[in-house]
Amino acid sequence: MKLLPNHRAHDAQHLIQRWRVLARRVGCGLKTLCKVNELPVIVIESTAAQAGQPAAYLSSGVHGDEPGAAWGLLLWAEKHMREIEHGSFLIAPCLNPVGLTLNTRADHRGIDINRRFHDADDVICGPWQRWIAGRAMRFGLCLHEDYDAQGIYLYELNHTHQTAGHAIIERCARVIAPDPRKTIDGQRAKSGVIRRRTLPAHLPGMPEAIELHVHSCPLTMTFETPSEFDLDKRVRAQVKFIETAMEVLV
Ligand SMILES: [Zn+2]
Repeated sequence: MKLLPNHRAHDAQHLIQRWRVLARRVGCGLKTLCKVNELPVIVIESTAAQAGQPAAYLSSGVHGDEPGAAWGLLLWAEKHMREIEHGSFLIAPCLNPVGLTLNTRADHRGIDINRRFHDADDVICGPWQRWIAGRAMRFGLCLHEDYDAQGIYLYELNHTHQTAGHAIIERCARVIAPDPRKTIDGQRAKSGVIRRRTLPAHLPGMPEAIELHVHSCPLTMTFETPSEFDLDKRVRAQVKFIETAMEVLV
């Protein structure tokens, strides 16, 4: 059975409504960071996260042409409601709802917000910064898709010597095999894992994962599914990635 009918893939309103229902059911707080073209940018925090317990941060929908990530996060959450109810979670389900509606990477202004997370004056990233300020986090998972990808892969930003990326990718490989390329996006990759211990020196603007790291999130993973693959498989791979990361990153 299909997890998501194709015609729903870019229905941001439906996605946001499902998150509202879920937040009510599990007793999570829900905030609207801002509204863009009448669509709310919502974020969700579990009771434990509100109480200051170090949280798992999850986000998707930064790029609107990557619906597998946004729906994967929702379907994971709907499957793991008890875990969210009793655990510490900060969730940004769809940071670029207009992009999702329009099927564009950019937002309502034509801007790639994944280069704006440093900007306290930005209409989306400013409220996001104030929302995460001072939060204790265990790790962050940023969910994406990539048109050039030939399989699943992830970027791991992690100060410690041990890498968790390979253990996670291997366990997701049954849904979609890892991207075999040795260079991905100009960076060295091994079996679908690109690893950094230090921050890149020159960036045109801050991506979400790096800004989280700057805000003392010790480990971030940016997970990518291949946009040209079947949507249902991509959604399943996203769900499997989050489930596996929750088990491995304890
Ligand atoms: Zn993306």
